[in-house]
Amino acid sequence: MPDSTQPILVKRERCPGCHRDAAKLLHSEPLDSPGITRYMQDHYEGRVERAFGGYDYQLAQCGHCGLAFQAQVPSSELIEEIYDRWLPATERALVASHFGLDDYRYLAGQVEFMLGHFGLRPFELKALDFGFGWAEWAKMAGAYGVDVCGAELSQVRIEYAKSVGIRIVDTRALPDREFHFINTEQVFEHLLEPGTVLKQLAAALRPGGLVKISVPDAAKSIGKLLGAKSFAALGKDDIMPIAPFEHINAFTHASLVAMGKEAGLAPLRPSLRKLYNSSSGWLEPKAALKRLARPVYRHVYPKSTFVYFARPA
Ligand SMILES: [Zn+2]
Repeated sequence: MPDSTQPILVKRERCPGCHRDAAKLLHSEPLDSPGITRYMQDHYEGRVERAFGGYDYQLAQCGHCGLAFQAQVPSSELIEEIYDRWLPATERALVASHFGLDDYRYLAGQVEFMLGHFGLRPFELKALDFGFGWAEWAKMAGAYGVDVCGAELSQVRIEYAKSVGIRIVDTRALPDREFHFINTEQVFEHLLEPGTVLKQLAAALRPGGLVKISVPDAAKSIGKLLGAKSFAALGKDDIMPIAPFEHINAFTHASLVAMGKEAGLAPLRPSLRKLYNSSSGWLEPKAALKRLARPVYRHVYPKSTFVYFARPA
């Protein structure tokens, strides 16, 4: 059994996006409330070995940059427990079995967009896949001839990436002004210090380089939680972007852009021609509609939490 004398949550006093001390509490709910207990049982499939009496889920919002974040986050001991023992298995074979042709086309489209944007030969383009998971993006970039490397915390994923030829870099010693492009897919919502990490990534970009940040959009979930005042009223999809313990930073388009600004980065407004030119599968009616709509809602009237950020040239 886990040691019950150690605190399992630690407080984040300052905004993790801009580091200012301007947060106000949006919502507080005991971690053993019926709604959160039901979520934990479903999400962790009954593997939770803790009692959470006396602890609260606290969602705060920074009055300066607007970032909503969990003010109480798991201690390093609890994080290990969650990721090693509670989370459902995410072996590579299982994850890969959910990937269809459209998912690979989507990755290929992103890589083609990157190559089209820089107009370089693939082998000249240096890219980093930061927090690469099972390295799907990195492998796709490599298949197009890009000089790609990756950073990741999970040892089993690092070993896999090495086995398919991805070079590994140390996240604590990223080279200065090295990369044309840094990919981050579903990473920043998990980080204890997202603002600090983004500054490190910005420093590792060449002038004119791009970092892609793609995170869950928490706007709707925050609105529902504040309206209902309880997790009990939220469905699984509503909870996902603000999930206790895991999605500790709850971004909206505006707070993501504000964090970029703190790091000296500005959102890119890519041309529709370039975006359309880098996606395939247009002759399938259902998919074509998605291909037509996505660049518009993402980049023309941007409200989404998929943003290409540029370091000034
Ligand atoms: Zn802030």
